[in-house]
Amino acid sequence: MTTQPASAVIRREPASDTSSAGPMIELSGVERRFGAVRVLGPIDVRIDRGEFVAVVGPSGCGKSTLLELVAGLQAPDAGSVSVNGHLLEGPRRKTSIIFQDSSTLPWRTVEDNVAFALEASGVPKKERRRQARALLRAVGLEQFARHHPPQLSGGMRQRVAIARALSLDPDLILADEPFGALDEQTRILMAFELMQVVDRSSAAVLFITHSIQEAVLLADRILVMGARPGRIVDEIVVDLPRPRDESVLGLSESARITERVWARIRDEARAAMGGSDTEAP
Ligand code: ADP
Ligand code: MG
Repeated sequence: MTTQPASAVIRREPASDTSSAGPMIELSGVERRFGAVRVLGPIDVRIDRGEFVAVVGPSGCGKSTLLELVAGLQAPDAGSVSVNGHLLEGPRRKTSIIFQDSSTLPWRTVEDNVAFALEASGVPKKERRRQARALLRAVGLEQFARHHPPQLSGGMRQRVAIARALSLDPDLILADEPFGALDEQTRILMAFELMQVVDRSSAAVLFITHSIQEAVLLADRILVMGARPGRIVDEIVVDLPRPRDESVLGLSESARITERVWARIRDEARAAMGGSDTEAP
């Protein structure tokens, strides 16, 4: 899958945006069907401005579908999706998406990859260059500005994707298992880097991950999804101090949250295997 080119259908919101008080994301009664099968919903979620929300749940429960609905890449079959107070009608400019297989453009330099969206939105060359350099500095890749993506490691390419995602100064970042292809140590380090960059930007983040550890490290709130149809079965506030680092993992509060997420996932898995909670006679 490729990321959306910056020139894809992008609708600008009305200039007179008076909606800055409400939630960043609001889903009401959202459902998604494929054929006769309801794969998602009904889902009701509110995410505040600047809030970092992680979503965990088993494969196939509808996490990516949820993200694509919020991105405006899919439309709901029932209910409504609002972003920044506006009913969503398609992709919007201030939403950035990071996928696992973030596709960098191999024939462009790292710097020109980061500047790509700026170029598409008509930012002059000198300014593009300045902004791209600043973003590369933020993700620790300034020395690699003139390299091409194939010369970099997978983790470095993902940092290029993060820098590019931040280039349009998003108010909302959607990430679909962005570090899923990386080894565990790189994953955790990248997660902290992302958090630092995001903390500075005040964007809201919807972050899908299959790593409960990542969710606890990063999020203000964790949504646990169950399958068939995909829905939110629990919501856990992560009341850990910020800024966070690896030491957070040693806190008893982290262990408590991790155990609660696991308990919900176990319940759901048992239910999915055909059981109710009660023993069969
Ligand atoms: P997750 O990201 O949690 O693994 P997805 O959102 O990718 O889950 O998929 C949720 C469910 O919807 C799955 O059962 C999947 O098979 C189904 N699904 C997703 N996209 C389509 C599609 N285009 N057509 C039919 N079924 C789909
Ligand atoms: Mg998925």
